[in-house]
Amino acid sequence: MTADKPEIMPISRAEFNSLALFQKVSFESLAGYLLNCAIIKASPHDVLISPQAEKRRVLILIDGLLEVRMNGPEGFYLDDVSPGACVGEMSVFDNADPSAWVIAKKPSRLLEIEPSIALAMLNASHDLCLNLLHILSQRVRYSNKIVYADQHHIRCIEENAMVDSLTGLHNRRWLEEMYTREMQRSNSGNFLLVAFMIDIDHFKNINDNYGHLAGDQVLISVARALVQCLRPSDMPVRFGGEEFSVFLPGTTPENAAKVAERIRTAIEKNSISLQDGSIISVTVSVGYAERTDGDSVKSLLDKADQALYNAKNTGRNRTCFCLGTPPA
Ligand code: GH3
Ligand code: MG
Ligand code: MG
Repeated sequence: MTADKPEIMPISRAEFNSLALFQKVSFESLAGYLLNCAIIKASPHDVLISPQAEKRRVLILIDGLLEVRMNGPEGFYLDDVSPGACVGEMSVFDNADPSAWVIAKKPSRLLEIEPSIALAMLNASHDLCLNLLHILSQRVRYSNKIVYADQHHIRCIEENAMVDSLTGLHNRRWLEEMYTREMQRSNSGNFLLVAFMIDIDHFKNINDNYGHLAGDQVLISVARALVQCLRPSDMPVRFGGEEFSVFLPGTTPENAAKVAERIRTAIEKNSISLQDGSIISVTVSVGYAERTDGDSVKSLLDKADQALYNAKNTGRNRTCFCLGTPPA
């Protein structure tokens, strides 16, 4: 990187007029200050601005190309800087270390303005101030856009982490958070809450007879049939393997019995077309239990699981309500 302190004007009037920072600014009004500026030449990979650099300065790219990176010169790429744009001005104005690295991407020529000269130029030209405000506003807008896009991306990742990719139902991670929240709400307001545990009967036979992919298709189809039997406020989850759980807020045991039976019959009647052309159906056993005082998510699901166990032991393809206390 080289700097030439000129005896003459470092940039021509034409170059001056082409720079965004100097749009509509009279060349004459700043000519005296420009005489105190230098031209910097940079080669690819030269670091022009970094948080560690002691020297603060405004750099205006006359020709070439720069790039901005975070977390180091090899770090996360943020943006390109094209001719006409300026860099380094923020740390000149707020007197704080630069937050990013600016690196030459192509052979570049830049106008270097020392902090005191930059401030004096702003004092001398109202139009220069307006241009700078415009540039900084655009930069804030761009940053806001990036922050928004990042947050959206993070939200998508978080949501995906809570969804079972096979069935599209929520998974156990979601259950931990949302069932706990619903349990607290029901306990504190003494609201009705019923939990279902649902397990496909003899599912292993499907895998054994038709293959694992057919088993997956059955899981997708059962999940879809299950959701169609529920209200939007109900909370179905793929609990694991071929088991599903549901929290049904605001539901009496009597209504829960009807919903459980609706699920059982809907799945029994559901014809599943497999890829090999076979059409099969499966049945489920459903255990359900009502929240009572002092229940936790675990104790309520344990009661529903106990009822499911009874449904399995008394012939499968049936629904059972847990009357007893949860297992120890
Ligand atoms: P039961 O009526 O007593 O519930 O019998 P079952 O055969 O349904 O129960 P078991 O627990 O013996 O078998 C469950 C099977 O579910 C075994 C496992 O390989 C299969 N399974 C679990 N997760 C998946 C999955 O994501 N895809 C497929 N295709 N199979 C799965
Ligand atoms: Mg099963
Ligand atoms: Mg099971």
